[in-house]
Amino acid sequence: MVGVLSAHASVVSRVESQKPLVVILMGPPGAGKGTHAGPLSVHLGIPHISTGDLFREHFRQQTLLGKQAKEYIDRGNLVPDELVLNMLFDRVSQEDCKAGYILDGFPRTLLQARSLDERLIGKVQLVVLNLNLPDERIVERITGRIACKDCGRPYHKTFDPPKVAAICDVCGGLLFQRADDTVAVVRQRLEVYRSQTAPLIDHYAQQHVLKEIDSQNEKGVVLRECLEALPSLPATQDIR
Ligand SMILES: [Zn+2]
Repeated sequence: MVGVLSAHASVVSRVESQKPLVVILMGPPGAGKGTHAGPLSVHLGIPHISTGDLFREHFRQQTLLGKQAKEYIDRGNLVPDELVLNMLFDRVSQEDCKAGYILDGFPRTLLQARSLDERLIGKVQLVVLNLNLPDERIVERITGRIACKDCGRPYHKTFDPPKVAAICDVCGGLLFQRADDTVAVVRQRLEVYRSQTAPLIDHYAQQHVLKEIDSQNEKGVVLRECLEALPSLPATQDIR
């Protein structure tokens, strides 16, 4: 009898692990979502879908959705849910998302999370990684960001400065700062982020899919913590 039960349990567990893995990367702007999404995608073998990239693709193709979204972003506001949902659901229905995908920058609101739930619940294994970083560290990181106008090489005024001020080490191009990387704009983005996502964090905590990650640590440490929080790692797959 015990044997039958445990055999059944292991079948259930295997079926569970064959469901597509959907990883949601959460955390304030500047907490490292962009940094870790790429390596996570490589380790897990599933695509990284950033709403920022989706927007840029729509801008590039000058779709109606793209033009509408750009107006909101240019004013420093969030893009309305319906616009984001249309772009996202179109993307994740594509073939390369069958085994799962990593979402970065979505959902941002409780309403978006509920729309995503309707589509995903019971069909996927969902894990939400919440990257935590204190506001002061975020302001420091973002307001120090500069990049080369010609080759795009990123720098940081304090943590990764060029050899000659305002000049690219690689190509000699001029370095510039994004217009929205100022203290005032960053603080406003953080305020919007905190007020909109606090209910979202509760929402996922109640579903028991939320994993807290300390993003103050060194890059490799944070990545390992993220991987260890996910169900498909060989290290955790043997645990029954
Ligand atoms: Zn350059």
